[in-house]
Amino acid sequence: MDSLSLTERYLSVRKSIPSHVTLVAVSKFHPVEAIKTVYDAGQRVFGENRVQELVEKQPRLPSDIQWHLIGTLQTNKVKYIAGFVSLIHSIDSLKLLTEIDKQAMKYNRIIDCLLEMYIAEEESKHGLSFTEAEEILGMQNALPNIRITGVMGMATNTGNVEQVREEFKSLATFYNKHKEKYNLQHLSMGMSGDYQIAIEEGSNMVRIGSSIFGERKPA
Ligand SMILES: *Cc1c(COP(=O)(O)O)cnc(C)c1O
Repeated sequence: MDSLSLTERYLSVRKSIPSHVTLVAVSKFHPVEAIKTVYDAGQRVFGENRVQELVEKQPRLPSDIQWHLIGTLQTNKVKYIAGFVSLIHSIDSLKLLTEIDKQAMKYNRIIDCLLEMYIAEEESKHGLSFTEAEEILGMQNALPNIRITGVMGMATNTGNVEQVREEFKSLATFYNKHKEKYNLQHLSMGMSGDYQIAIEEGSNMVRIGSSIFGERKPA
């Protein structure tokens, strides 16, 4: 793909998203050159799903990029990203949150985190139940170096639009129920295939990879 078409694709995705919605450009499996092209077109928020890849790319790209970790995070890898990561979308346990708090303290930072919620029917998708998420929201004051700023969820990968809509609705309901009490700001839902539905259901943060960067090679 030449860089002009990448820029054009980015701009057309950008244009399709209302200004109150944060676009996270998901650059996993794509080289730093492609990220730089999209950066030059104005994008500053990028998402990666693997710590190793994020750690390799981050020092090779401009320092004003806000890096989001969107994939599963193992506790023993938190230390590699704690110094610079701007938002972690994938909190799936109190143990992980506790480790992030500990590492953030070493850098004298407060790290913003989203609770990843299980809303899909698929076995392969994971995350917290609503009850588990409520428990963690209630305990966060014990962890001064993290801030839970919202929730993230992935809908079932299906052509059944109504099902996808219902799943997003359930997450939006949870978010709205707790938004004021816990000062939540981010409802992260929507990917290339379903972000329009997610935005209709209240998403204010979409994570878009292939519609911008093209298809990924399988890992
Ligand atoms: C890869 C990924 C995305 C982006 O997926 P696309 O379908 O390429 O837009 C979004 N969220 C998460 C958690 C991902 O792993």
